[in-house]
Amino acid sequence: MTELMIGEIPVSQLAKKYQTPLYVYDEKKMEETIKAFKRGFTSVHFQTKILYASKAFQTIEMLRLIDSQGLGLDVVSGGEIYTALQAKFPVENIYFHGNNKTVDELRYAIENGLSHFVADNVMEVEVLERLSREYEQKLSIMLRLNVGIEAHTHEYIVTAHIDSKFGMLYESEACQQAIRCIQESDYLSLEGFHAHIGSQIFDMTAWFAEIDQLVSYLQDFDQPLSLNLGGGFGIRYTTEDTPLPIEEAVEKLVSHTEEALAKKKLSIKQLLIEPGRSIVGEAGTTLYTIGYIKETPHQNYYFVDGGMTDNIRPALYQANYTCDLAKKLGEEKTVKVTIAGKMCESGDVVIKNTFLPPAQTGDLLAVYATGAYGYSMSSNYNRALRPAVVFVKEGASRLVVRRQEYADLLRGEINGTSQI
Ligand SMILES: *Cc1c(COP(=O)(O)O)cnc(C)c1O
Repeated sequence: MTELMIGEIPVSQLAKKYQTPLYVYDEKKMEETIKAFKRGFTSVHFQTKILYASKAFQTIEMLRLIDSQGLGLDVVSGGEIYTALQAKFPVENIYFHGNNKTVDELRYAIENGLSHFVADNVMEVEVLERLSREYEQKLSIMLRLNVGIEAHTHEYIVTAHIDSKFGMLYESEACQQAIRCIQESDYLSLEGFHAHIGSQIFDMTAWFAEIDQLVSYLQDFDQPLSLNLGGGFGIRYTTEDTPLPIEEAVEKLVSHTEEALAKKKLSIKQLLIEPGRSIVGEAGTTLYTIGYIKETPHQNYYFVDGGMTDNIRPALYQANYTCDLAKKLGEEKTVKVTIAGKMCESGDVVIKNTFLPPAQTGDLLAVYATGAYGYSMSSNYNRALRPAVVFVKEGASRLVVRRQEYADLLRGEINGTSQI
């Protein structure tokens, strides 16, 4: 019997110490991925900057790791800003995204010294203009554009997807008005343009099309601006996913940008990307304990002690994962089985129709590549407790989020007798 090790620790030790379900993050793997991004994403023609899209997995310890590696940060809400501030993340390195940032959130950001805003629409730019004057604070604005490209795993479509909830069409009157508003403002400056074309992108030509679009807009400006290409780098959930190595992928982005600029005799100040999933996804593993085992006329089920509350992606996107019986690696996978969670939803399935060795109640199940959009999308549905999160590295583990206890479920509940 071979047992799965993460960060040089047998996973059964982690399960024993921290209970299941459990999110386990391999710190070294995250660091190595970040290093690969940094090695590949450099240019002699312009500055480059990598921002971690923290919605993929945001905890204080994660943000400390990101800062220690010298990356910047994307946040999309007041709550994410709050967490970043608690982590003492340098505010000058935080970029605030979102299509409907409330005035309260914008004030909170400005009062705490954030200066980079990725504005989604002209109304937001006008609010930012007003607030920047009120606070007498200079703000750098990137405009989120809809470049009419929608990238999917292995293909992209040039659309007509002009009605996206995100971004503006560059040619639109609203976008031109937003640009004018920034240019006429004493406090706002136009940092550049941003686009984000999809997630789980494997096809480099989708990125290239995006770059060409963004570069084409630069001709209208005298001073060099910056371009932010967004995130969406694909990861390997199953053997069907075949992402390019990160270093190679980002090298291609840089060289395509250099060529596109050279062709038009243009220059930029900085090129930015904002990977989320690709930094944390494959570094995360969820450990479950198998409970009951059941056969129906057409299915074998292994039931686990978590499910859609710790990983909503299979239910939400029909996402696929792979798994192993953590202490039975290498044993023949002879049973066709569906891994189902314990929540009261038929759709609460972790993995449909996979193959595993015969299991027994109490066996540990490891589901791979759950590091992105697992914990961050987790819920207390059915009053399930959010699992603990541990970071492991070189034989040592440390708890970064403790497992919830029942009392946590009642936090915020009051008797409702006080009137507004
Ligand atoms: C979600 C998102 C990202 C990160 O996407 P990943 O697929 O996790 O890399 C980056 N930028 C924006 C604007 C996003 O909305």
